[in-house]
Amino acid sequence: MLKLVNVSKYYYSKGVVTSGFSRVNLEMHRGEFIAITGESGSGKSTLLNVISGLDSYEDGEMYIFGQETSGYTETEFENYRKRYIANIFQNFNLVNSYTVYQNVELALMMNGRKRKEYRKKILDVLRQVGLYKFRNARASRLSGGQKQRVAIARALVKDTPVIVADEPTGNLDSQSAENVWELLSSVAKDRLVVVVTHNFEQAEPYITRKITMHDGQVIEDAEIRKPEEVKDERTAEEHEGRLRFLQKIRLGIRNTFNIVPKFLLLLFIFMFITAAVSIFYSSTLKNNFVEDTSGYNHFFDDADIARIVIQKKDKSIITEDDFSRIMAVPGVGRIVKEDLLIDRTVYIWSEELGVNGNIVAASEFEGQPELGRLPENKDEVFVLLPKTHYVAENGTYERLMKGSFTLELPFGKSNSSPRIVTVCGVALSDMDDWKGRLYVSDELLAQISGAIGDSFSKTELNANGHVLQSSDWDMTNAVIPVDWVESGTALVSDEWNGYYKNYRAKGKTFTVKIRNLYYSDEAELLIKDVYTYRNFKNKTLGMDEWYRGAVFVNVDDYLALFDKGYYQSSVYLSDFSYKDSVMTALEDMGYKTLHVNSNTESYGGNWARLERLITTGMGAALMVTLFLVSYFIIRLIMRSRNTYFSTVRILGGTASECRSLIVIELITVLNLAYAALIGVLYAAHKGYFSNYVTDTILTYLSFRDYIILYLVMLAVCLWIALRYSRQLFKGSAMNTLKAV
Ligand code: ADP
Ligand code: MG
Repeated sequence: MLKLVNVSKYYYSKGVVTSGFSRVNLEMHRGEFIAITGESGSGKSTLLNVISGLDSYEDGEMYIFGQETSGYTETEFENYRKRYIANIFQNFNLVNSYTVYQNVELALMMNGRKRKEYRKKILDVLRQVGLYKFRNARASRLSGGQKQRVAIARALVKDTPVIVADEPTGNLDSQSAENVWELLSSVAKDRLVVVVTHNFEQAEPYITRKITMHDGQVIEDAEIRKPEEVKDERTAEEHEGRLRFLQKIRLGIRNTFNIVPKFLLLLFIFMFITAAVSIFYSSTLKNNFVEDTSGYNHFFDDADIARIVIQKKDKSIITEDDFSRIMAVPGVGRIVKEDLLIDRTVYIWSEELGVNGNIVAASEFEGQPELGRLPENKDEVFVLLPKTHYVAENGTYERLMKGSFTLELPFGKSNSSPRIVTVCGVALSDMDDWKGRLYVSDELLAQISGAIGDSFSKTELNANGHVLQSSDWDMTNAVIPVDWVESGTALVSDEWNGYYKNYRAKGKTFTVKIRNLYYSDEAELLIKDVYTYRNFKNKTLGMDEWYRGAVFVNVDDYLALFDKGYYQSSVYLSDFSYKDSVMTALEDMGYKTLHVNSNTESYGGNWARLERLITTGMGAALMVTLFLVSYFIIRLIMRSRNTYFSTVRILGGTASECRSLIVIELITVLNLAYAALIGVLYAAHKGYFSNYVTDTILTYLSFRDYIILYLVMLAVCLWIALRYSRQLFKGSAMNTLKAV
C-alpha cells in the first residue's frame, strides 16, 4: 500500500547539507503494526514526517496505492494528508481549551464532514478509547495517558488507512504507555500503524514488525509476528473536503468564547477603540459645529442657523400673496419681510446711556412693556433689552425714559444727519444676545429702510445732460433728504449753474436716478433755489458746513424711490431639521435661497481654520497611535494562539481557513463591543442616564457615521487577520509544527 524506493531526505541549512535519511526501501501494508527504533538522530522522525507528507523528500519515489508522489504540489500533499494519514504526537497536540469531544470533532470539521454524520461516530470512538465519560471535560484537565487517547481517537475518526505516531508514549508513565500500545495494536487490525519509539521492549508484545535505523539507514527490518490478513485492500475514502461555511462560523464563535480571559481582554480593547473613536469624532464634529454657528458674516449680521435669505429668481417684488404661500410651507416659523433691517445694528445714545439693537416695526412687538408704551409718533423708540444687557442689569433702564437720544444709522451719506429720538417704553427679554431691539413707528421705519436701501443703491444725477456722481471724499453731489424742502423740488449748489443755459439752474429740472440689485427708479425734480458758499447756512436752516456741495431734496420724494416693496426677505425655520426641505420648496417656488449660517466665516478666519486643522491632526495622530497600540496588543493575543492554529494546520486546515477563523473571532468580538456601545447610547437616548459624553455622541453622530465607524473597525479586523495568518503560514506545515 505504501512503498518507498530509494527515498532520501536532505536538510540544507547555512550551506551545509545534512542527511535526514538516505536510500530507504520499504513496503508497508494494512494490518501491519510497525515500530521504528534506533538511537537519537538516526532519522526516525524524518522518515515518519516524509511518510506523513509533512516533509518533502529529494530522491527516490514514494508510492501510495501505487501512485507516485514525487511530483506532488503543496496542495496535493495536503490532500494526501487528509486522505491517507492521521498523526499522533509525543506532545499530543490537543486544543487544551476544547473538550474531549470538541478535540475529536475538530479533526472531522477540518475534513469537511457534516455534523449529523459524525456525532454518533465520535461517541463510538470515545467509547473505544475509554473516554466516553470524559467527553465533556476540557483537554487541559486530563492526564497524559488520557490526552494521548484523545489524540488516538482523533486519529481514528478520520478513517484514514495510515496512522503514524512519533514517540506517542514518550511523555507517559509505563501503565499509560501499555494502554496506548494496546489501543494502537487493536486499531492496526485493518490499518497500517507506524510508530516511532526508542522503547522497543514496551512495543514488542504488540507489534508485527520492527524497523531499526542507524545514521539515516535502515539496518534491520524484521517481522515479529504475522500481521492479520486484510482482504479489503481498498484505497481511502474521498475525504479531502474543506471546512464547511457553517462549521467555520461555529468554530470561530467557539474560539471567541472558549478562553474567557482572552475574550474579555479582546472585548475590552474593542470597546475601548469604538468608544474612543466615537468620542473623538463626535467632539470634533461638535467643536466645528459650535465654531460655525457662532461664526459671523461680514454682510449678514444675524447668522442664526434658522435663517434663510430669499429673493425671487427674476428679482421681482415679493408680494403679500407670496408671503402667505411661503408661510404655508411646513417648517417655516416666521418671515421678516424687511430683511435688510436684520443685519443692521442701530445705536441710540445720550450723554450717560447707550443702547443698540435691530430696528423692528412697532406692530411686531409681543409681550408686556416693563415701562411706558409703544411708539406713537416718528421720534419715539421703544427699547427691548436682553436681561443680561448691562443697562438692564444695573436697573438703569428706567433712566432711558428720560432725556433725548441720538439715533445714528452707521451707513449711507443721506443719513449722516442724526435723528433725535426719545424712549417711550422699555421691555426686558430672556433672549441670549448682546444687543436689543428698537421698535419704531412705520414712519421712522420707512426712513430707516430708505437709508438702508440707499446704502445698497447707486445714485446718479442728471442735470441737463450732465451726469453727476457723488464724490467719495466730501458731500459734493450727495443727495440729502430733509423735511424743509418742498416736495418735488430741490436745493442745489450754485456750481450747478454751469450745467444750464445762461448760467442759471434755478427754475430748471434734473433727475435723480437710483439703481440697485433689484430695480432702478428715477424722479424729476425742480431746482427751486441754489445756495452759494456764503449763504449756505442761511438757505439750509443752519446745516453743518460739511454738507456744502450736497443736493437737498424732500424726504418723502427721496424715500419714494426706495419704497418698492420687498425684494429680499428672511425666512426663519421653526426647526433646523426642516432646513433642506424648506430650501428645496422655496427653490421650487422660484426663489433664490441663502442659508446664511452655512456661508459664514469663523471668528478667527484663517487662524481658526489652521487651529482646527492642527487639533484635528493631533486628534487623528492620537487615533492612529491608539489603533497601532491596539493592533499590537491584539496581535500579541493572537500569537498566544499559535499552538491552536498549528494544531488546526496539522489537522489539514489551510491558511485561508485559519484566516477565516481569526476573522470570525475578531468580528464576533467587534460586534459585541459595538452592540455594547449602541446599547449604552440607546439607554442614554431613552433617558436612563445622561452625561456630556453620550449626549455629544448622540447629537453629533449620524447613522452614516456609525456605519463608517463599524466599517473602519471591520477593516482593522481583516487587516490583523491577514497579517497574522501570513506570519503563521510563512513556512510549510512542518515549520508550523516545529515552531510549537
Ligand atoms: P530521530 O528522530 O531519529 O532522533 P531525526 O529524524 O530527528 O532523528 O533527525 C535525523 C537527522 O536529520 C539528524 O542528523 C538531525 O540533525 C537532522 N535533522 C532533523 N531535522 C532537521 C532540520 N530541520 N534541519 C536540519 N537537520 C535536521
Ligand atoms: Mg525524533
